[in-house]
Amino acid sequence: MSKRLLLLNAGVVTMNAQRHQYNDGAVLIADDRIVKIGPSRELVNEIDGETEPIDLRGHWILPGLINTHVHTSQQLGRGLADDVDLLTWLHKRVWPYESNLSEEDSYVSTLLCGIEQIRSGVTCFAEAGGQFVNSMGRGVAELGLRGILTRSTMDMGEGLPSQWQEDTNAVLDVQIANYDRWHGKANGRIRVWFGLRTIFNNSDELIVRTKKLADSYGAGIHMHVAELREENEFAQATRGAATVTHLDKLGVLDKNFLAVHSVWLTEDEIQLFAKRNVKVSHNPAAATRVLGFAKIPEMIDAGICVALGTDGAPTSNRMTLIDDMWLASLIHKGRLLDPMVMPAEQILAMVTCDGAKALLWEDEIGSLEVGKKADLVVVNPNTATMLPMHDPIANLVYAMREHNVESVMCNGRWLMRDHKILTVNEAEVLKEAVQRAKAISQRAGIEIPNRFNILD
Ligand SMILES: [Zn+2]
Repeated sequence: MSKRLLLLNAGVVTMNAQRHQYNDGAVLIADDRIVKIGPSRELVNEIDGETEPIDLRGHWILPGLINTHVHTSQQLGRGLADDVDLLTWLHKRVWPYESNLSEEDSYVSTLLCGIEQIRSGVTCFAEAGGQFVNSMGRGVAELGLRGILTRSTMDMGEGLPSQWQEDTNAVLDVQIANYDRWHGKANGRIRVWFGLRTIFNNSDELIVRTKKLADSYGAGIHMHVAELREENEFAQATRGAATVTHLDKLGVLDKNFLAVHSVWLTEDEIQLFAKRNVKVSHNPAAATRVLGFAKIPEMIDAGICVALGTDGAPTSNRMTLIDDMWLASLIHKGRLLDPMVMPAEQILAMVTCDGAKALLWEDEIGSLEVGKKADLVVVNPNTATMLPMHDPIANLVYAMREHNVESVMCNGRWLMRDHKILTVNEAEVLKEAVQRAKAISQRAGIEIPNRFNILD
């Protein structure tokens, strides 16, 4: 008989369909799965010589959080592109940075990003696409996280760095090779999807062939959609319709399509997303900084599955999903002058059960239920920033910070215990990340002007 783990005496937010919550609950884990969940007074009887009990009095247990849009390979570019216009951001900072990244840089970037994910309670994320899926795969396998990997995929576009100029066949072949190498690896924690960067960088032929491939592999498609107002103008001028309307004409909008940002949608296009069962990844920090306010409450009302994401470090700086939960809850209240929109229970669903649906993984993750994978977060609310707990669900969204995330488990294995990262050497990763970040920026010739008069 294998060793079992019994988490006892905690508040347990299951996020199951009935939204069951135990104020004094317990979760029994065997190997990588949850085998029992219920009141502590019942599960305490499960303690035997093969079961390790862990008393979590005063703590809360949540399903592992799901970040549906991250650029792990941009992590070493944090701080390279703040307070600049979009063209400077893209052509002078982020493209030079990303096109000068080596495979090993991308690996260290994934580790750094992964540590920030774990520290903020994330157990699963969807990578939006750097170049080196092998590096990301290595990183995710070592970190112990769960992840969907996607290669940044472009077959056209003005001003692209020369090493990114590839034809349609080549970019599809690389993705098939990535799929064959990584899908299902790391005990099933890694999955591979197909990527489309944006309509600016993807031909119609690529979009159509990607849809066919994703369907034949049973995979999803991850694409930035209608993120900028200029994007719709571009699509209108070059393809004859705004992005979403055009994508629908190409037949790509479907239940396995994850549309990121989706800020500039008309009412009709929102209805189209709902009809086609398209999933949306809302990234409130990126939206607030540069894109605009997506009509998220309206999308949820239309029945669209909306999840949350952090985007990349040069866009939103904080890869801490907890901060995006807080921001998502606030910005729509402000936009609509309605404090009742985007309530805490909605936000919590976006980072758990709805996040799992968006990633087509709801059969195994997204809620704490018998038979599901043991992906969970232990929250310690006993800090000046989170007490008192009059309304626990509200506090978990509006007051929880990164320092309240005490322990994190993925696939039945602790990735962090009592704030200590257990899977990789955090101090070494930090040191190497700083050295590599400096070298990349020098190699790329990126100049960041001083903001103050430096005296030394
Ligand atoms: Zn992105």
